Amino acid sequence: MSQAIISLNSGSSSIKFGLFSLEGGVPVHAAGGKLEKIGIAPQLTIRDGEGSIIAEKEWPQGASLTHQALLDDLYDWAGSHLAGHEIIAVGHRVVHGGADFAAPVRVDAAILARLEALCPLAPLHQPHNLAAIRAIAALSPDLPQIACFDTAFHHAMEPVATRLALPRAMSDRGIRRYGFHGLSYDYIARRLREIDPELASGRVIAGHLGNGASLCAIHAGRSVDTTMGFTALDGLMMGTRSGALDPGVVIHLMKQEGMSADEIETLLYRESGLLGVSGISSDMRTLHESDDPRAAEAIALFVWRAAREAGALISAMGGIDGIVFTAGIGENDPVIRAAIAARLAWTGLEIDEAANRANAPLISTPDSRVTARVIPTDEERMIALHTLATLQAEATPWA
Ligand code: AMP
Repeated sequence: MSQAIISLNSGSSSIKFGLFSLEGGVPVHAAGGKLEKIGIAPQLTIRDGEGSIIAEKEWPQGASLTHQALLDDLYDWAGSHLAGHEIIAVGHRVVHGGADFAAPVRVDAAILARLEALCPLAPLHQPHNLAAIRAIAALSPDLPQIACFDTAFHHAMEPVATRLALPRAMSDRGIRRYGFHGLSYDYIARRLREIDPELASGRVIAGHLGNGASLCAIHAGRSVDTTMGFTALDGLMMGTRSGALDPGVVIHLMKQEGMSADEIETLLYRESGLLGVSGISSDMRTLHESDDPRAAEAIALFVWRAAREAGALISAMGGIDGIVFTAGIGENDPVIRAAIAARLAWTGLEIDEAANRANAPLISTPDSRVTARVIPTDEERMIALHTLATLQAEATPWA
């Protein structure tokens, strides 16, 4: 019987999961899938390691199943389909590790209480991440569960990059910059060491451009600065999030337009970004297909903001040797990559058009002063790698 690790990324409306069997001590992706539309009409799709669908299930519209009930189902499925696999641990994406958690950690009741105390810092994500941990603990109390933090990769940032220019007492209360998408950037930094060690030791802008989007300045594998800060709302324009905003806008909306905190939260998280500016869609593909000028304006703003923030991060690193594109847009959208790269031509970055169109791994020209790569991110694998390493460190505490 081979050992296996499950990685879970439990969000408000979806749960992504991966099953990694350990072959020669290395996690190999054996199956994975997604439970989507939780709270509306849940849909479960499970694929094998080659991407073929091996299980599908739909719940009726309006089925108000809780995360717990859905995870029960998922666990049942795992139990009946994973003959030959012994699950040795579950790794979880946990959005916020606060100021304390700089590395993955095995969760027990005391750790869970500390992670719960961080919920006010990430109210839209953290409670769902922790609900999954509680659900698994109820099903299988002795199974090791490892929390892997989205903030941890950015613990390497210098204090100056973590400060907000607010009164000191606020940073003592945790109101500071943390950074997110850390599992994705950690994975990119590792992959880069494997495929391009020279660039990995240099100064790299990594762009996680998906529905949520951010940039990270990575120097020799360490986070120097990143565009998301206190929350995952900061920085780039995103699918439905505004990104960085003059804080005066929020004051104006409250005082002049009488909006409540909840209304502003909905506006900035769910109604802004590509969706808000285009009035059409949060999805980049849909915007490319539209001939409505508002779609073109939304795309232009996305590119403008990404290039502008990249400029700030290049300055934070004192230069740039490479740029890596990842996530839905970063991996699949040659038009956006070319447009951002064109605005960064001053760095000496030159894109190979044919390679870019083909979503090739290397998309800069041989003469380009800056190397440009496309690297598919794999947060689930990163969670599995962290989970395994945490178990191994526990087994050999004096190593
Ligand atoms: P993610 O959040 O990483 O799944 O990324 C979602 C975003 O990636 C959406 O805006 C999609 O339109 C975009 N996307 C995904 N696949 C493609 C593709 N093949 N071409 C262009 N954009 C894509």
